[in-house]
Amino acid sequence: MIPWLVVTLLGLTVGSFLNVVIWRVPRQESILLPGSHCPHCGNQLAPRDLVPVVSYIVNRGRCRYCATLINWEYPVVELLTMALWLFLFHNFRFQTQFWVFAVFFALLIVLSFIDLHHGILPNAITFPGIAAGLLWGAANDLWKLVGSYPVHLLYNLGAYVSPFSLQSAIIGVIVGGGVVWLVVLLSKGGMGMGDVKLNAMIGAFLGWKAGFYNLFLAAVLGSVVGIFLLATGKKKRQDSISFGPYLALGAMILTLYRG
Ligand SMILES: [Zn+2]
Repeated sequence: MIPWLVVTLLGLTVGSFLNVVIWRVPRQESILLPGSHCPHCGNQLAPRDLVPVVSYIVNRGRCRYCATLINWEYPVVELLTMALWLFLFHNFRFQTQFWVFAVFFALLIVLSFIDLHHGILPNAITFPGIAAGLLWGAANDLWKLVGSYPVHLLYNLGAYVSPFSLQSAIIGVIVGGGVVWLVVLLSKGGMGMGDVKLNAMIGAFLGWKAGFYNLFLAAVLGSVVGIFLLATGKKKRQDSISFGPYLALGAMILTLYRG
């Protein structure tokens, strides 16, 4: 029971930090300083205002100082991070993959919400993300050289996740980025270079297979949601859609899918 509780609290806390990143990175503000403040009245938030989900409920979704409604997305990001990390924990317990994919999922959540709000996937996140995927691959090679390589890293992979190595990560970047780049060249609009870098990052972490199939999975997910939004009148045909969240969702499914 206790490990599940630890992951729950960890997910909520990190989700709360991801809210800060989602707000500040596209505005080119520091993610560490100053401390959290209400974007409406500027009041510095006290620790009691920063308890994930609980503060939102206790304050009834309003700023405690100026009573402005707080975006409902804040608790959603916290609960989403918690839920996804619990899925990872279900698959991997506290094996090494859990921590690697927890970081991977955090990057995917941040990129999705920034894309939804601003229609961009900042290099400030995709580039370090690609570097992290390559480093993780290289670390595996080094680990095998040194010996004592943990066996679970060889067999406890998803059906679409390639065994970790620098070579696999590099091929993942080329294939993952390449397939989306082809679509960008052929379609002129819709997807952009941000999507290319995002799917390259996904290939760096998961390998070429996931990088390749993710494009098609994301297209299906995007069509299903798109048709639903059109049918319910929440979107008009000419509205532009962000593709990043679907690439991110596809990558999460491919990470967790056991097959
Ligand atoms: Zn306020």
